Amino acid sequence: MRILVTGGAGYIGSVTARTLLDAGHEVVVLDDLRSGHRAAVPEGAAFELGDVADRRLVADVFDRHRVGAVVHFAASSLVGESMERPHAYFANNAVASLRLLEAAHAAGVDRFVLSSTAAVYGTPDRVPIPESAEVRPESVYGASKAMTEQALDWLATTAGLGWCALRYFNAAGATERHGEDHRPETHLLPLVLEVAEGRREKIRIFGDDWPTPDGTPVRDYVHVQDLADAHVRAVEAIRPGTGAAYNVGTGRGASVQEVVDACRAATGRNVPTEVAPRRAGDPAELVADPSRIGAELDWTPRRSELREIVESAWAWRRAHPDGYPPA
Ligand code: UDP
Repeated sequence: MRILVTGGAGYIGSVTARTLLDAGHEVVVLDDLRSGHRAAVPEGAAFELGDVADRRLVADVFDRHRVGAVVHFAASSLVGESMERPHAYFANNAVASLRLLEAAHAAGVDRFVLSSTAAVYGTPDRVPIPESAEVRPESVYGASKAMTEQALDWLATTAGLGWCALRYFNAAGATERHGEDHRPETHLLPLVLEVAEGRREKIRIFGDDWPTPDGTPVRDYVHVQDLADAHVRAVEAIRPGTGAAYNVGTGRGASVQEVVDACRAATGRNVPTEVAPRRAGDPAELVADPSRIGAELDWTPRRSELREIVESAWAWRRAHPDGYPPA
């Protein structure tokens, strides 16, 4: 199948593009490089520079490449920033996705995978979180993804769309060629590794008085390659006129303190920490119940032990100390 991967120059998108190619698909990456890296686009993928909200460009891409499915990553993805720039988040995530869906429909493309998020759940009533938990986001980011999921559901019944929304928990880790290179970086694991490298003085732990075993927040870290594998399974399984949302996580949580300790162990370096105030919008604990994706897509995490995640991220950083080279 020829698959359009929007945001295929980004962290999860580039690993997924590589994995789709390895599975025998053809890949067209569409990315405006506002946060992605040209060097992250895998060899063998066609590359189109531009914005998914650009109707004319997207229609032209569908026309020229004759794609059969879309895997849509291109989005803004920071919870805190979404509260400060709500219009931009609704525009980049919800509005742009709808434009892309409209263009896909016009081109007769009826398979669509959405990069979604555990942030659609807000603070859950219980963990692990099943997909049947109420969708009640507590951030513009989560809301923008929930809105897009809702549109997908309606388009299945009204326009015959086949779709799948993958609700990621915490993506982390690296493959040999692809790793995390956000500028600026806000995610825990790469920040801790920057401390281990000596590029940053210390890691600030956002609260140690949470109702968790060691007082620091618990997240479900899933290896980026496991996430990419979930997309390949999803796009291959989609049937027109039906859709589903799946959690992509391991079912096991790790605390911020455990991540710091794993980084100390993997790097053999000193990692000074400082307890800082809680970060607005952070729930205490987010852990997936991944049984649906296991049962329906036969997906299971294979590389998501915390040690393997941290070691892979550290290996990538050592090989790419300055991240991806400029275009
Ligand atoms: N975190 C932290 N210090 C940092 C960055 C993150 O203590 O400098 C914590 C954050 O409060 C959360 C966890 O690490 O509990 C994971 O945060 P991240 O931003 O990586 O992902 P999120 O869970 O927000 O998607």
